[in-house]
Order: sequence, then structure tokens, then C-alpha cells
Amino acid sequence: MVTPHRSTSENHRNFQGRVRLFNAVYQATYELSALCPTCSEMRENEQALSFVEEENPRDNLASLRCPGCKALMDVTLIINEARKEEDGFLLWRRNAIMATLLDEKHPFPSPETLRKKHGEEFHWSLLFHFGSYKDAMRSRGVSDYKDSLLPTSWHNVVRPFLGTMPDSMIGHLVGRSGAAIQQFRAELSKRASTN
Ligand SMILES: [Zn+2]
Repeated sequence: MVTPHRSTSENHRNFQGRVRLFNAVYQATYELSALCPTCSEMRENEQALSFVEEENPRDNLASLRCPGCKALMDVTLIINEARKEEDGFLLWRRNAIMATLLDEKHPFPSPETLRKKHGEEFHWSLLFHFGSYKDAMRSRGVSDYKDSLLPTSWHNVVRPFLGTMPDSMIGHLVGRSGAAIQQFRAELSKRASTN
């Protein structure tokens, strides 16, 4: 099943929670930033989330239309805010990530191999858009992909986030379906009510 593109308003509401959950899974945080090359208009985080997917298909990079002068701005993904200078990557378009994965053939390379082959920009952009390699591979049509970056026990990782954002979004970041998260939530509340 192809993962539907999440709506912008949902992204806005859940941005902070998503960053915290991302940190719990990958021990990394991120910020988004876009600076207009023409009028210096700046967009950050939630404001920078409405990417223009189709307008700049000549390269892999995501872009955002400047609300002021309508020029296209690149979007920078800043990993670990404390080390801004060396950890800023230009964000890839979601479609460009998918096109790259579609070129990969069975047996599908591990996350480490893909990261080495396509670089840090690709790696962090993939995690930003899809939440996990497993989820990206599922969108590519590979259901049994072994994602070595995921926590082996996802239950404790997701527990503090249950109910704070949609189950499906939690599922993306730990490579599980929304239904699996929902089931875990139901088990916990059942356990709580019988104790
Ligand atoms: Zn501008």
C-alpha cells in the first residue's frame, strides 16, 4: 500500500511531537529552515513545511515558494541544533527519495549501505519524509525489509507519545502500522483497567 501524503495542517499540529519522537528513535533532532535568495524572507519549522514537489524536478531538492516574491527557496534540514554549521543538509523531495529507492533492486541494501551510497542528505531526508527506512521501503512496495536502524523494542520508545499524536504517525517513525500502535494502546489501557 502506498502511504498517502500527510496533509499540511496535520504536519503543523504534530511537528513538535514528531521531532521529539524522532529524537527518541534516532537520537537526533531536526529543524527546518528556508531562506529566500531574492528577498531574504525566512521560513522556519512549521512554516517551512509546505513543499513544492513538482516545480523543481531537475534536481532532487525540495523547494518552497517564497510567500513574498514567489521565488523558489531551498529547504535546509538542520540535524541536532547544537551543531548547526556542520549538520545542515538540503532537504530532498519526497518523490526524489522514492525515485532513488525504485532504482534499487532485490536484494535490497541495508540502511547503512544506502546511506553510504546516496549520502547524508539522502539519509536524513528519507527519515524526515518517511520516518524510517522500513516505511519508505513499504511505500516502494517492499513489505519485509529489514531495517537495522529501528529500535528492537519499539514499545518503550513509543509509550510516552501514545495519544499525543496520531497512531499512524507514531507508526511511521518506528516502522509499524497505525493499527499496530492502536492495538498496543488498547492493550495498555486494558491492562491499566484490570489492575
Ligand atoms: Zn522572496
